[in-house]
Amino acid sequence: MENRDLVIIGGGPAGLAAAIEAKKNGVEDILLIERDSHLGGVLQQCIHNGFGLHIFKEELTGPEYAERFINELKSMNIEVMLETMVIELTSQKKITAVSKKYGLIEIQARAVILAMGCRERTRGAINIPGTRPAGIFTAGTAQRYVNIEGFMPGKEIVILGSGDIGLIMARRLTLEGAHVKCVVEIMPYSNGLTRNIVQCLNDFDIPLLLSHTVINIHGKKRIEGVTIAKVDESLRPIPGTERYISCDTLLLSVGLIPENELSKMAGIKIDSVTGGPIVNQRMETTVEGIFACGNVCHVHDLVDFVTQEAQLAGKGAAQYLKSEKPSSQRMVKVDVGEGLRYVLPQIISPELMVSDKQNFFMRSIAPMSKARLMITSNNGVIKTQTLRFVKPSEMINIVLKKEELLEPNIEFLRFTLREEGDGYGDE
Ligand SMILES: Cc1cc2nc3c(=O)[nH]c(=O)nc-3n(C[C@H](O)[C@H](O)[C@H](O)COP(=O)(O)OP(=O)(O)OC[C@H]3O[C@@H](n4cnc5c(N)ncnc54)[C@H](O)[C@@H]3O)c2cc1C
Repeated sequence: MENRDLVIIGGGPAGLAAAIEAKKNGVEDILLIERDSHLGGVLQQCIHNGFGLHIFKEELTGPEYAERFINELKSMNIEVMLETMVIELTSQKKITAVSKKYGLIEIQARAVILAMGCRERTRGAINIPGTRPAGIFTAGTAQRYVNIEGFMPGKEIVILGSGDIGLIMARRLTLEGAHVKCVVEIMPYSNGLTRNIVQCLNDFDIPLLLSHTVINIHGKKRIEGVTIAKVDESLRPIPGTERYISCDTLLLSVGLIPENELSKMAGIKIDSVTGGPIVNQRMETTVEGIFACGNVCHVHDLVDFVTQEAQLAGKGAAQYLKSEKPSSQRMVKVDVGEGLRYVLPQIISPELMVSDKQNFFMRSIAPMSKARLMITSNNGVIKTQTLRFVKPSEMINIVLKKEELLEPNIEFLRFTLREEGDGYGDE
């Protein structure tokens, strides 16, 4: 069995940034393991621009964004194992992986960073009735076919779900000559970024049917059409609103699931809302020395936030490797109040923060045109901030200064989000 200081599982933007940051913070012995034949993760199939606006202040394509980190990683001589899949992880940080080149590998790591990304929900996850013909793809699979493998999934397309991948594929397939008939969304609002609605649907006159869903799939060998219907407030189809739309392809963009089979094997506690590990201020999971970042933790809409989070995990792992045992065990619990689905990190040890500020990532439950975010502790209000055009699909990023968290008797932090003008903050 090999011994390593730090093993990073997954070579997407999260794994790359975490490896670079750990090295910059003094970790010499790093091994990054990636199951694919190239680094960069999902970015390699995202050939549209819109990446890197926060970090590089310019619009890059996915592969361009990935390339900057891959080049930096190579210049630092960080060891990478490609076409190698981690199949087992224990709470003692023992890793088992398989590779065509090296066969079965066992590694004992002192610290591990999980960066395995997420996978798409499929037809089975949402139980659409009807026949089971060919021509039904997840949007990300279709993206890989078109952008990497050079295949068109079909010509007459219906897209179910208005997540970002579906919106981006509506534009991509239109540009490749397909007819995208509509995007059907069960919620009364879109689940994608506003800029993607404008640039991928409105600019190409592709209808977005909100509060609609697919209630039947038709066709024997290949899909021939779908029946859609309007839904009521409880998301149930309204009788009499059914409509048949012919198509040869149905793309599903109905959500992503963080890849946490390895995390569960290692006994890491999973947050039932995010689907990813519960983490602290340095992205350390509930198993000491195992860190997590990127889509494996919670689904991100912007890669820049993935990078920021991964840098924190890289620094955190370096800090852990230098000191092993935390010098303070004080835990401040992060409470999710009204208006929010989740807040991450879920636990803070202020004394162990790896920088002088702490990012908190969160998502709202519902869209709000103007909202007041309030952060309170057992000592009173710490911070309030007005936010405009809040949507569940657009992650909120709030920064608190270390000194705001260092009061000795802080027991909890509570985050709440309310529509402005309902008396909130007047009390
Ligand atoms: C279609 C689409 C469009 C997007 N558009 C934008 C955009 O315009 N702008 C923007 O900022 N962001 C965009 N994003 C978001 C951004 O790309 C993601 O948030 C980001 O790629 C997530 O990074 P990650 O490293 O966590 O995961 P991933 O990129 O998924 O990387 C995870 C890596 O881990 C590897 N892996 C998984 N399990 C194992 C294992 N057991 N062993 C070894 N390796 C493993 C995988 O092969 C993969 O390479 C988009 C995402 C998608 C899917």
